[in-house]
Parts: sequence; structure tokens; C-alpha cells
Amino acid sequence: MEIQRKLAILADAAKYDASCASSGTEQRDSRDKKGMGSTAPGMGICHSYAPDGRCISLLKILLTNACNYDCLYCINRASSNVQRARFTVEEAVKLTLDFYRRNYIEGLFLSSGIIRSPNYTMEQVVRVAKSLREDHHFRGYIHLKTIPEADDDLIAEAGKYADRLSINIEVPTETSLSKLAPEKDVRAIRRTMGRMRLKLDETDAAKTEKAATRFAPAGQSTQMIVGADSSNDRTILETSANLYASYRLKRVYYSAFSPIPDASLKLPLQAPPLMREHRLYQADWLMRFYGFGIGEITDPLEGGMLPLDIDPKLAWALRHRGRFPLDVNKASREDLLRVPGFGVKAVDSIIAARRFSTVGIDDLGRLNISRRKALPFITLAGHRPAPSQLDSNRLLNLFRPKASQLGFAF
Ligand code: SF4
Repeated sequence: MEIQRKLAILADAAKYDASCASSGTEQRDSRDKKGMGSTAPGMGICHSYAPDGRCISLLKILLTNACNYDCLYCINRASSNVQRARFTVEEAVKLTLDFYRRNYIEGLFLSSGIIRSPNYTMEQVVRVAKSLREDHHFRGYIHLKTIPEADDDLIAEAGKYADRLSINIEVPTETSLSKLAPEKDVRAIRRTMGRMRLKLDETDAAKTEKAATRFAPAGQSTQMIVGADSSNDRTILETSANLYASYRLKRVYYSAFSPIPDASLKLPLQAPPLMREHRLYQADWLMRFYGFGIGEITDPLEGGMLPLDIDPKLAWALRHRGRFPLDVNKASREDLLRVPGFGVKAVDSIIAARRFSTVGIDDLGRLNISRRKALPFITLAGHRPAPSQLDSNRLLNLFRPKASQLGFAF
């Protein structure tokens, strides 16, 4: 099979993986002319977009889309009627270098279906990264998917060459995993995440020593498919919170389930709205950076689901109107972080600014704060919301997207 054809098949097969961020790794470049590539953005890197709008700035491919497993939600499952292809290690290396030289990508995201055995598959994946780093002195970003049942040595070797390692938790609960991917074992997945966490901790502890071994400086991440089972958003966020706390994950990626051809009856017929994925990312940030607890983010009256029409922080504020309006010049950082429209940066700038002067309404624009969202919830120099505004039933309508009539098709 021609390499172009393989690329078409194996890049298409990889597009369901959402993990494409390259932030947070060590900074490397090749200005010393002893290698090629750089992990720093802004070097003329081209970004491309998957059909569903996700950013793909890495060459994102599978080494093969053949797989021994039969995970029902996966287009590459053993029983799927798709054309199969496989790159050799040399082909994957060459493609990465060619794409890099043409400035199409900033690095490689490599995953694979499981062939022969988990160890064999992991070995092949590691060989690509090893060859890029050692034979070609490639200094760009490398993200490798790890195979849960692979041996420790292989995971350690993967971490030596990759910037980030990830292993997919797949679905939010163990029950769903055993129903939809019976060959996968949640304990094996968590064990491997635990081993990677230990390696990351060891590497951090040894950072001061010159001979410290390198291990995935951009850490580990995972992906969860949303909408392939009946888990609500609260369950999904609980699983994420547990993963962040237990395994020092950098990111949990949420990937809206895409219906696949000849799908099992155990799967839903329709994809969830893409907005659900977006709201989960927003809720994930509220947990990690804004001090919100899971129980606060989702509303039990909504069946543990996040609203789709407004963002979760605004929804929380509307459910807790008694806590507003907040005096921007006096409120604590924790309270300011809960004001709709206030980001972490803006809050820190407000706190820095108010040491020297009173923050007024004109400062909001300079801090990139949406006045429409924030003004009903705050008081500050030059602004006090009308007392009735916060209590009004119509406040929610201010924020809802305007309904628009469907156009006629001529
Ligand atoms: S192991 Fe991975 S590639 Fe294979 S069927 Fe499951 S999800 Fe798909």
C-alpha cells in the first residue's frame, strides 16, 4: 500500500483522540544546530483542524488501525469493517520528519491498535520515538499513547523519549467499561497510571541530580468518551477529580462520542451535543483553578447535568444570587473567582490594582472582563446593580443565546 493511502487511513483513524495539547513540557529548540525541531509554539507551525473543529497541530496518527480488541465505541475494533493499514517504524519516523521540515506540525502524537500483544505494540510505538530522538535528534514534541498491560521497562523507555504519555480511561465508570470494552481492565489502566505517577514523582525528586532520568516532562493525561454510556456530568466530573488527585494528571480530555458505522445496539444512535463536551471542559477548569467542588458545579435538580445554554459558573451564580452583589474592592480572591466573567488573571490583576487605587467600572474593559456577564453580580466604583435586577426571573434570559427562527430553504 502506498504511504499516502496509509496516511489517509491512519490519520483518519486517529482523529477520535482528543489529546492534542502540547503545552507544559520543557522548552527545547535547535538553535545550536545540533538537532531539529522545537517544542516552543510560534515557530511558523501550521495548525489543522479535524472535521469536528478540534485543533490538530501534531501529526496525529496510529501506527496501525488493526486491533485485537473489540471495544464497541471504537471504529478500529476487531469486528469493524474498515480498511486496515500499518506503518512500519521507519515510515512513521520519515513522515514525522517530512511534515516537520515542511512546517506542518510541531510534533507527533502516536497511538496504535493493539496487535500481537500489548508489549509488542508498545515496543513498536517506543521504537518510533527512540529513532526520532536518537537517530534524528528530533527535538519537537512527542506524545505517546501507552498500552495499559505493557511492561514497566517499556513504559519507562516511552517516558524517556516522549514529552507526554497518556492512557485512556475510556468511559466514566467501571460498569460501562466492562459493558462496552470487555477486554479492557480498569484496574490495569489505573495501575499503569499509578506507575507513571510514581515515575513522575521520582523524576521530580531527582531533578537536582545531574544524572536524573528523563520521564515525560509534560506529564500524563487521559481521555474520557462522553455520551457513549448513560453517565451524567456529575459522574464524569467525579471520575476526573479522582484521576487528577490520584495520578497527577495534567489533563482529562473529554471527547464527545461519535456514532460509528455498524454500531452495537448497546451504543446510543446519536452523538451528544458538542456543547456538552465544552461545558465539561469549563466545569473541569472550575474544579482545578477556581476552587469549586463538584457538588456545587452540577445541580441535582437538573439530574446531575450541566446546563447547555449557559456556562457552569454563571449557572452556579444564578443559583446563589444571595451571595451577590460582591464589592470588587473588598471581596476575597476566592469570592472574586466565583463572579461570572472573572478569570483567574483578571482576579489577580484586580487584587494587585486595588492595593493602590479603587477599581472602577472603566477598569473592566482593560482587564478583558465581560461587562454583560459581570455587572449584575458586582458593585464597584461607578456601578451598583439595581436591587431588583439580581432577583429578577428575567436575569437568566439576559445570558441565554437569543433564539433565532430557522430560515427558509429555497
Ligand atoms: S484497544 Fe484501542 S484501538 Fe483497539 S478497539 Fe479498543 S479503543 Fe480501539
